[in-house]
Amino acid sequence: MSVSMLLRLAWRQSLIRLLLFYAVALGLGLAVGEPWWALGLATAALAARAYWRLYRVLRFLDWRKQLRTVDGQGLWAALETLIHRRQTENRSRGRRLVRLLRAYRQAATAMPDGALVINRRDGRLVWFNKTARHLVGLRYPQSLGEPLIDFFAGSPRVREWLAAGHTDEPLTDLASPADPMVRLSLRLIPYSATQWMLVVRDVTKLMRLEQVRRDFVANVSHELRTPLTVVHGYLDMIEPEEHPELAVMVEEMRRQSQRMTQLVEDLLTLSRLEAQEHLPEEPLAMAPMLVTLRREAEALSQGRHQVSVEDHAGIDLTGSTKELHSAFSNLVSNAVRYTPTGGRIAVRFERTADGGARLAVQDSGYGIPEQHLPRITERFYRVSTSRSRESGGTGLGLSIVKHVLSLHQARLDVESEVGRGSTFTCVFGPARVRMRQAPGEA
Ligand code: ADP
Repeated sequence: MSVSMLLRLAWRQSLIRLLLFYAVALGLGLAVGEPWWALGLATAALAARAYWRLYRVLRFLDWRKQLRTVDGQGLWAALETLIHRRQTENRSRGRRLVRLLRAYRQAATAMPDGALVINRRDGRLVWFNKTARHLVGLRYPQSLGEPLIDFFAGSPRVREWLAAGHTDEPLTDLASPADPMVRLSLRLIPYSATQWMLVVRDVTKLMRLEQVRRDFVANVSHELRTPLTVVHGYLDMIEPEEHPELAVMVEEMRRQSQRMTQLVEDLLTLSRLEAQEHLPEEPLAMAPMLVTLRREAEALSQGRHQVSVEDHAGIDLTGSTKELHSAFSNLVSNAVRYTPTGGRIAVRFERTADGGARLAVQDSGYGIPEQHLPRITERFYRVSTSRSRESGGTGLGLSIVKHVLSLHQARLDVESEVGRGSTFTCVFGPARVRMRQAPGEA
């Protein structure tokens, strides 16, 4: 029965019973000759009954017991029926929620990754699963309420990462506080407005594989260096004029061995960069750097392009001069190599709105189709293999640029339009900017 129908029926029945009750009381009163007394007694009886039922309802509400199913009719019975219904609904909803919560907890506990819930404000632990206990060295329940950073011995790396709230960037290759041989990767997930979920993964095997791969590439490149130097040396000793029949062959062999040498050098540079976590923090004078870049562009271009270099920033950078020079000159070399004769190459150094700086290398060359843009910084990724080879490319230049920039907490932005040209921009944060020293000053 719907609630409104139940209420209407109860109201009607109560009214009829009230009238009947008073009619009977009045009849009896008239019979004994005391109608007023009879009516008074009837009212008192009604009031007493009302108080008793009210007390009954209140008792059940107060004791949080479930009201029994009520028979009878009238407003009181309707009230009790409604309360009974609500109680039953609430109970089953509560049971459902508890079941759901239990299922979630079980799933989180059974997860092969460590899961922790921490307060965003103070970084204290609210909850963690079993795997987190082993990986981070937590104890249940003693560790609850403790700041997470304490378990990582106050590591500045973890502290900065947590404070910055990097949800898109996991913190990788971190030693486990429980066992330094175990390497961890941490990922922050926005869990609620006040809490983070931290997922901790054991990446020891992955890191070992990565190390094996890095060592392999570095070793192979290193081993190739000596034989290549020997081949190169012997090729240099052959004078094409003395053996005109071999001239074409020797020329091709020289080019190929040069390409291989460049490839080996680039692979070694990449291995070296990958093995480093920090680079030397030295002042990098940008004015001479821009002069060098112009000279390099002009030497590569050999007058085939119009080269301009503009310095609007008036500041210097801090970082590794050698590596940043290698990154910038890779971009300049690409601009020259992928721009046909008669094109323009512009190098601009300027400030950014946030107090940082950017170095943009713009060309009016072939451009890069949009679908290739996300992948061009991958090793050996080329838009056109033949064009890259012809121009002496190894396919590793932009990987080197990306690595060097990331070691300087900088990023590479690429804009390009096919047929109109490309702009590669190295964007540095304010922390990398320093006042420019007058020439000659230390
Ligand atoms: P490569 O040695 O082949 O130049 P890079 O890593 O330097 O390798 O560049 C990757 C690819 O990106 C290149 O093969 C080329 O297709 C494309 N590319 C890089 N710079 C430019 C540019 N300025 N204009 C057009 N394409 C470019």
